[in-house]
Amino acid sequence: MTASREASGRKERQPLEDRRHTRAARIIGLAWADLPAEHRLLLENIGAARWRVVDQALADCVDDLLRSAGHAPMAPADRLGLVDAVGVWVEELRLVLVDAGHPALVDLDDQSFEMMLARIAWHEWGHALSVVRAEADDVADGERLLALAPRGVSERIRRAGYRRSQFTHELVADIYALLMSRRRRGETGRPPWLDDHIYQFVRRISTWND
Ligand SMILES: [Zn+2]
Repeated sequence: MTASREASGRKERQPLEDRRHTRAARIIGLAWADLPAEHRLLLENIGAARWRVVDQALADCVDDLLRSAGHAPMAPADRLGLVDAVGVWVEELRLVLVDAGHPALVDLDDQSFEMMLARIAWHEWGHALSVVRAEADDVADGERLLALAPRGVSERIRRAGYRRSQFTHELVADIYALLMSRRRRGETGRPPWLDDHIYQFVRRISTWND
């Protein structure tokens, strides 16, 4: 189970407006269309190309979907990992889910909402690529890689309480989302704020070739 987490504070859920739900689906469709064609193909092959926008806490949503598809209920540790998640790739269901009604998103203006949702979608797709393509050595190297990552990224990952074995995938996913944001703005090559080792690493794992 792979998820993007966002700190949600203590806000209560409110039902998602239809307008926002429709908009969220459109934003994610556009984020998908922005991916390099070869990445879309790879994601189709690994079962991460389908996505759905929901208005339900992901721990409950994933559990419901797994049960109705005849899988075992989620393990408590997996449920816990989804408590604050806004996005998740459920490998067993070959599906990316985004909770557009997440309390962390409700107060965002339209532009921030769009940026955040696109970033979450790109994160989940980057995460799926990493899970499938990273070697055992890369996963074992997570702690060292995190030390070379931009501070905002490493702090988010440490704060979210991921296991050490998840560091590499989280790092690739976050950097992938950042590279996709730049790509949308027409910027290519290594960003000045990114360590060259990390840049080359993420390029290798995600087959990034801009
Ligand atoms: Zn992730």
